[in-house]
Amino acid sequence: MRTLENFIDGAFVAPVDGATEPVLNPATGEEIARAPLSGAGDVDAAVSAARRAFDGWARTTPAARAEALLAIAGAIEEHGEELAREEAINAGKPFGAALEEIPVAVDNLHFFAGAARTLEGRAAGEYIEGYTSYVRREPVGVVGQITPWNYPLLMAIWKIGPALATGNTIVLKPAETTPITTLRLAELAAEFLPAGVLNVVCGHGDPPGQALVEHPDVDMVSLTGSVDTGKRIAASAASTLKRVHLELGGKAPVIVFDDVAMESALETIAGAGYYNAGQDCTAATRVLVSAKVYDDVVVGLSEQARDLVLGDTLADETTLGPLNSARQRERIEGLLGRRGKHVEVVTGAAKPDRPGFFLEPTVLAGLRQDDELIQREIFGPVITVQRFSDEDEAIAWANGTPYGLASSVWTRDVGRALRVSKALRFGCVWINDHIPLASEMPHGGFKQSGYGKDLSIYSLEDYTVIKHVMAKLD
Ligand code: NAD
Repeated sequence: MRTLENFIDGAFVAPVDGATEPVLNPATGEEIARAPLSGAGDVDAAVSAARRAFDGWARTTPAARAEALLAIAGAIEEHGEELAREEAINAGKPFGAALEEIPVAVDNLHFFAGAARTLEGRAAGEYIEGYTSYVRREPVGVVGQITPWNYPLLMAIWKIGPALATGNTIVLKPAETTPITTLRLAELAAEFLPAGVLNVVCGHGDPPGQALVEHPDVDMVSLTGSVDTGKRIAASAASTLKRVHLELGGKAPVIVFDDVAMESALETIAGAGYYNAGQDCTAATRVLVSAKVYDDVVVGLSEQARDLVLGDTLADETTLGPLNSARQRERIEGLLGRRGKHVEVVTGAAKPDRPGFFLEPTVLAGLRQDDELIQREIFGPVITVQRFSDEDEAIAWANGTPYGLASSVWTRDVGRALRVSKALRFGCVWINDHIPLASEMPHGGFKQSGYGKDLSIYSLEDYTVIKHVMAKLD
């Protein structure tokens, strides 16, 4: 049995009080490693290391930081199969899907490396007679980063990429159930980074996550996680007024009009709904359908759901993995159990008779806008279908939840696609597709899906502060 350790100041170290807990394979429920149950002392050691490393790292040239990021990307590529295998076993995703994330992670890092060399202040000149002003863009400092369990490696890349590119040092806390690839990432990256620039502390939201958020020597906290955690973190961070960057949950509406190319649309929507067993903040799981094609969509999505193959995440034929934890499955079972009598279970909603934390792919029809299953993120392989009567109702329902991360509109009518895209209050709108992302494009929410952006040049801006320098000329 492997015993994992925190990665602090360039080396693996056991947690101060020696406590560990099991890490499970969600497809079997079996213990695969033991992970540190860190406390405030471990966070303190990591923050001190990051603070010591900060001045040196912040002084490096953008070119040097770009070189480091490119080298880390190279190491990920070289160890891609190993990382994908670890991710498949620890996060519970089909190996093929985990392997597809590797070139994405590499491309993200290539982008951050290039972008590191493009940042600038926008103004330089004489705005008052006798003075020259210019704007410097500087790193924020020591950043605390907290990641979720659905894409442990990829979310770590989205966090460390822009932070390192802009000269910050990091203490990263992965989700308690999925620390393995993040620790390996830190180990691989250590070859190209000075000690203390990237530290990883394992454990739960409380105490280590909370300690990171409250630490007076941490300048910024970035979370990818649920809305509730985001609210707690924003409230705690207020005590030290540190900058907060929040990528939170979603409840993506998928608006299907009656003029779509139905077969390919249904294949893509089901693919994007059940991808990663629906444990995706942009998952295409809230389908709103024009009355004319409602029955076709309900039947078509159910056929797609029944075609999925549950099983061992390392087996080639597996297309649907488990939920990440027993707790997550219980949460979803609770939501399903509380559904109103008007909700029709078209397929699924049961626990298959096998070990691990699987849930059958589910399609629910006939839902009402105020149902809990519509208003709250499910984060599992559950697609809901609602019938709308016109464009205005579709837009009102799409916007009618507290979330605002991602959405899609499906129609061949260009005017309607652009009209609806404008009306949707979401950080991302896809037209006739759902889920693809590009390193150059921002990813982030409106409303309670949070604030701040991942990916793109906007993420680098979030990890910098602007300084005005004004010089008297005589
Ligand atoms: P979670 O909020 O339970 O946990 C996320 C992380 O926060 C974990 O590392 C956890 O240990 C930590 N945490 C929990 N309480 C904390 C506290 N009080 N202080 C500091 N840290 C704390 O979320 P999860 O269940 O791991 O992940 C699923 C959620 O993440 C979903 O809501 C999903 O939509 C969201 N998500 C969002 C994006 C995005 O880009 N917007 C991407 C992936 C996942």
